[in-house]
Amino acid sequence: PVKESLAAIRKFKHLNAFTFVASEELLEEQLRNAAINSSQDSPLRGLPIVVKDNFCVRGMPATCGSKMLSRFDPQYNATVVEKLINAGVVVMGKTNMDEFGMGNGTVDSIHGPTKNVWGLEKFRCSSTSFDDWHVPGGSSGGSAVAVAAGLCFGAIGSDTGGSTRNPASYCGVVGLKPTYGTVSRHGLIPLVNSMDVPGILTKNVVNCAVLYDTMKGWDSKDSTTVKFDMRPTTPSQTGSIKGFRIGVPKDFQCEGMAADVIECWKSTADILEKEGAQIQEVSLPHTKYSIVCYSVLNPCEVASNMARYDGLRYGHRATKPRQNSTEALYAQTRHEGFNLVVRGRILAGNYFLLKSNYDKYFLQALKVRRLIQQDFENVWEKGVDLLLTPCTLTTAPKYTDFLKWDNRKQSSVQDYCTQSANMAGVPALSMPIKLSQDGLPLSLQLIGPRFSENKIFEMAKFVENLV
Ligand code: GLN
Repeated sequence: PVKESLAAIRKFKHLNAFTFVASEELLEEQLRNAAINSSQDSPLRGLPIVVKDNFCVRGMPATCGSKMLSRFDPQYNATVVEKLINAGVVVMGKTNMDEFGMGNGTVDSIHGPTKNVWGLEKFRCSSTSFDDWHVPGGSSGGSAVAVAAGLCFGAIGSDTGGSTRNPASYCGVVGLKPTYGTVSRHGLIPLVNSMDVPGILTKNVVNCAVLYDTMKGWDSKDSTTVKFDMRPTTPSQTGSIKGFRIGVPKDFQCEGMAADVIECWKSTADILEKEGAQIQEVSLPHTKYSIVCYSVLNPCEVASNMARYDGLRYGHRATKPRQNSTEALYAQTRHEGFNLVVRGRILAGNYFLLKSNYDKYFLQALKVRRLIQQDFENVWEKGVDLLLTPCTLTTAPKYTDFLKWDNRKQSSVQDYCTQSANMAGVPALSMPIKLSQDGLPLSLQLIGPRFSENKIFEMAKFVENLV
């Protein structure tokens, strides 16, 4: 599989899904190590995996799609990578992303934009060039495209506000954001520490469960990981959904949601009802505040996280600061190293955190976050097992349309259905349901209580078999 994967990665180079591809020697070395170190009955032995460029993998750069880290070569493996390697996987390379995970198109990267493989042929103008394409979603767009194009067995992404589920949805693959605290963030370069979770992208539900079972678990190197039931979550093939209580939250329907997304949502709920599930309309009334709340909390944590990139310890360093002072070196380094989106968020975050603004913005947003969390608690208390919601508001937009969206503001609306799960720390999975009229994947999302990955997989597997 590794040879085939490498050939496919080369063949689909025009998708620009990768920021780094391992050399043949490095792949052979990994295969040798897998043969020696992993157990013979590991289901992942010798399987090709790709990793988003904000995770540390020894021997490969970790650029985060940014000039700031364009020469950063981490000396250690992220815990999730280490666990996968111990299970025998081969890391084929690193995948493209929006700079530091900020965005949802994989259009804002120093490595250039990634192209969605769906619908690409209609834009072909020569053997290697295209005059437009659909965005793959983001920020884990490279990972989603690698899976969708069949370049690997599975991909690791990260999810802070939807960055695994959004590209999974646009690319028609399965994307899991696990419960916060079940999968270690050690070695994942932070965006928003209180919301970041390593994500998983695969072609199908069972493969996702296998990767999740390998990656999960308490880690002494991440104090936010927890000890919990470690039994395997792999779904049974013959599961029934009789008696499953599925909540359909009306608050997830919002302005700008495409008619075919709504139709897909309703018709899937109808199918599940026919199959014996109990469908129940529920309300999570604070969902409508999640975008505003996120757009305060995200920049605040970003502002504090990005302070480490000062040009002194590692990363980019300006060679000619305008004045000969430490401040000028910081300023020039950060001006050169970060794109406008990142700099905008640093500015916004520091503004919200000013002593005079702290209560008005940051504290207020924390309170709203608590209400959003409480909304989820309330529905689980009513006996709802899982929620069925849309994942993105539309199918994958065209690149040229995406760029027209005012300063990425409108694109953040695409996170409407995904961000609340990050604020509540609950698990959520995006899965493809069918194709739209114009031949693009339409996906839905399943959200469950904390630690309910097994239930989510069970339901997702059932839906997968139906649609
Ligand atoms: N689109 C969101 C943002 O730009 C989500 C990012 C993410 O999940 N990493 O912040």
